[in-house]
Amino acid sequence: MPKRDLILLALDDETVLQLMQRALQAASYETAVASDRGALDTIIQESTPALIMIEEHFDGISGVKISREILERFPSMPMLIYARQESLVLYKGVLNSGLSGCLYPPLRNDDIIGTIERSLLRARHLGDWLRREVKRTTASLERRASVSESELKRYEFIFANIQDGVAILDEEGRIQLINRAFAVAFDLPSGDFRGKHISQVANHPDIDALLERALATPLKYHEINFDDGRIYNAQYTPISGFGLVITMQDISHLKQIDRMKNEFVHTVSHDLRSPLTSVLGYTDLVERVGSLTTQQVEFLNRIRGSVENITSLVNELLDLSRLEAGFDTRREMVSLEKILKLALDTFEGQFRLKKLTLEADIGKGLPALQGNPIRLRQLVDNLLANAVKYAPEGSTIKASLQAEDSQIIFTVSDEGPGIPQVEQGRIFDKFYRASNVPDEVGGSGLGLAIVKSIVDSHQGRIWVESTVGKGSTFCVVLPAHTG
Ligand code: ADP
Repeated sequence: MPKRDLILLALDDETVLQLMQRALQAASYETAVASDRGALDTIIQESTPALIMIEEHFDGISGVKISREILERFPSMPMLIYARQESLVLYKGVLNSGLSGCLYPPLRNDDIIGTIERSLLRARHLGDWLRREVKRTTASLERRASVSESELKRYEFIFANIQDGVAILDEEGRIQLINRAFAVAFDLPSGDFRGKHISQVANHPDIDALLERALATPLKYHEINFDDGRIYNAQYTPISGFGLVITMQDISHLKQIDRMKNEFVHTVSHDLRSPLTSVLGYTDLVERVGSLTTQQVEFLNRIRGSVENITSLVNELLDLSRLEAGFDTRREMVSLEKILKLALDTFEGQFRLKKLTLEADIGKGLPALQGNPIRLRQLVDNLLANAVKYAPEGSTIKASLQAEDSQIIFTVSDEGPGIPQVEQGRIFDKFYRASNVPDEVGGSGLGLAIVKSIVDSHQGRIWVESTVGKGSTFCVVLPAHTG
């Protein structure tokens, strides 16, 4: 026969105690008796009773109060209160305290056992429910933990295997995470770099320059050149409240293609120059060796015009490749103010021809800059020539030269056709002509590429602000001489 539950009795009334003991033993329950409050606690600790029956007043203390204290430590313990007489107040107290119920005289064996069994059954159900819930919650937590762990592993795997180098930094530039491609690019030994500053780990001047320039200006791209010839394009993305992310793509092959293309263009342009000179020479000679009809003269003039066009294109290409090869090293103190004034004088005839109004705004006491005067004149001429070329007759052209924070700012504005927003980034590329260039306006698409190379070689910046149908403003910022 299985061992029956232990019922702990805490009753001051000796007669009731004996009655209960008899009834319980007859129903095969084990009983334990607590003589006072201290004994009650000891028996609970040592014997783990299945139910406790406490008298309304036990050992001079309220039975409900004792029960509440016990429930704080053993919340699922079934507890009954024995009272000498029925009382609504007591019943409410029993219910409010979460006890199982009350027993009152007359005490019949059936009532005692019935009440105890019901309480035990309810407690058992509660225990089963609790165990099931705990099991269910534990399983669900385990499932969730394993899902997020596997997701984490998946993200780690993806992050580690991204072809681009990625470094996640905090706002101070300390490494939070770098992937394999980043470590390989900088030839880093394996190890944990978390918390170290990116400059110490990567130890590369281009990374320092990227961080410095990205903080100073809204620059987002920077090239990283390695001694072994590899070139990466690095992007800098700040993430507010978190830090920043640097991503890098290896563009060495694109740079190589670009170099080959430039070399090809240079060679072809160079080789074209001599035959073009000779075509032009013979065109001039034809007229000298005999008389020509008017139509022959006209054809010769057309040949001459076309050859001159090709020659100027070839010259522009050669010029550009010289600039791109970094041959523009001549530096002297230059007054951009003087250059602009001279250029504006030269353009006067063209302004008049198209009935253009010039508004020049040249600041006072402008600082000089270190540069190549011939190249800077070329820059000014190209921008003015474009303004004249694209401006409609009778419109206004504005040229402004100002100094601000040790920088010289030169702008040229016109009321021409403007440049579509999406194409504005491309007009500084070689041969690029915007889609809205009027048919009658000729050009090679090389002028702005030359201007951009000159600006770059003077450590400046150039951009365009333009609205289609309203006009364009080209802005050039060059560092002033601050010696
Ligand atoms: P192009 O010889 O075609 O003028 P550029 O390199 O000087 O070549 O300019 C490139 C393109 O930029 C032009 O074809 C034109 O689409 C656009 N562009 C340059 N300047 C202006 C301007 N002032 N107004 C409108 N579009 C311009």
